[in-house]
Amino acid sequence: MMFSMPNHWREELRLFLGIVLIAGLAGTLTGQLLVCLLLGLLVYLGWHVFQLARLPRLLAQNDQPGPSPVGLWKDFVRQIREQQDSSHSHSLELSYELDRYHNAVNTLPDAVVILDPSGRVDWSNPAAKNLLNIDWPDSRGRLLTDLAADPVLAEYLSNGNFATPLTITSPANRAKILSTYIAPLDHDVSRLMVLARDITPEYYLDVSRRDFVANVSHELRTPLTVIYGLAEQLNMDQTDPAMLQRSTELILQQARRMNELVSDLLTLSRLEMRQESAPDETVAIAELLATLVEEAHALSGPAQHVLHLEIRSPEGLRGNAQELHTAFSNLVSNAIRHTPNLSEVTIKWLVDHAGAHLSVTDTGEGIAARHIPRLTERLYRVDASHSRDTGGTGLGLSIVKRVLENHEAELEIISTVGGGSTFTCHFPPGRVVSL
Ligand code: ADP
Repeated sequence: MMFSMPNHWREELRLFLGIVLIAGLAGTLTGQLLVCLLLGLLVYLGWHVFQLARLPRLLAQNDQPGPSPVGLWKDFVRQIREQQDSSHSHSLELSYELDRYHNAVNTLPDAVVILDPSGRVDWSNPAAKNLLNIDWPDSRGRLLTDLAADPVLAEYLSNGNFATPLTITSPANRAKILSTYIAPLDHDVSRLMVLARDITPEYYLDVSRRDFVANVSHELRTPLTVIYGLAEQLNMDQTDPAMLQRSTELILQQARRMNELVSDLLTLSRLEMRQESAPDETVAIAELLATLVEEAHALSGPAQHVLHLEIRSPEGLRGNAQELHTAFSNLVSNAIRHTPNLSEVTIKWLVDHAGAHLSVTDTGEGIAARHIPRLTERLYRVDASHSRDTGGTGLGLSIVKRVLENHEAELEIISTVGGGSTFTCHFPPGRVVSL
């Protein structure tokens, strides 16, 4: 196997031998061989010291004026430059990554705060200002418990048990509810990371769900208690036939009430679960309203309301016939139930440039303005006992609202106490169908 010497070694050897040769020649000529060889070695050493001295400048810039390094120095400089280049590109990559994380944390809607071991702010992102009252960099070095002054948060921090997140009111905006997570930083457990997320919509949804369950339970318990009491009485020796008939009637009445409530609840939940992609059909509104008027006559019964049906436009609607029937029939049924006997109820269908409009106008008791914005809340009633007496479940207008949402439509309520009410469903032009 042939040994091949690397280039830089060859160059180095050539340099060394060149110097020795010149020194030898000079020594032979002058008869001072030893001195010349020693001088030659000094020149060789001086060359290396010179290279060493200019090394920092050589490495600082690539195009260094003066002789370029040769031999071992050439290779040495090359290797160091390669390492410099690779560590430079590595640090560029790192700073790019860092920028990316920094940008991501800065655009987060959640507040992120790093605390030092004494609970002082070390760093925070922009969202921390609106959620936790921590403004970077002004808040740097200040105690979190001073900036976000909340006794519950202070206690949570001092307990040091962060297994479950803490729900607090935002110290920067009392209308916001925050879920706060705290965790020690991985690489330094004495420093904490605080993450606060705005959960206001979820929080109120949860509250309204809990209220709803409580209210429904209450609504169901009332008739159930009546049925229970009457059944107990019947179970005892009950010989008075008039009493027996009265009890049975009451039981039936309460059972019907429960049945209506459960059926409205089911309708509402079905509407809420309806897939947006449920196929729409063409609904002939004039026909649907004619059926509705017949049903309304039956509902009114001996109360003999006077029903007017005004079909001002021939168009129909693109939608779900069953849902629309449920919504309109709730409006008509409300009008009948809240209007005195023999009064007038008008149902009007009209299409114009703004879309289609279905209105139900009654001449009944009317509604005070303060109640109007809340009428479509589930189980909301202006007068609970009156509504129950007239057969209302308190879910009718919630059902109407949900159906209209499913059809991109809106409900408008105009009413004056003692002057009657008009409930209008406004459908967008895109829902109108020519028949
Ligand atoms: P309910 O089943 O009790 O009628 P709704 O959700 O349909 O429940 O209506 C909510 C409340 O709105 C009713 O309890 C009633 O107080 C009021 N309301 C609805 N429609 C009318 C109307 N046409 N006239 C007067 N009040 C009405």
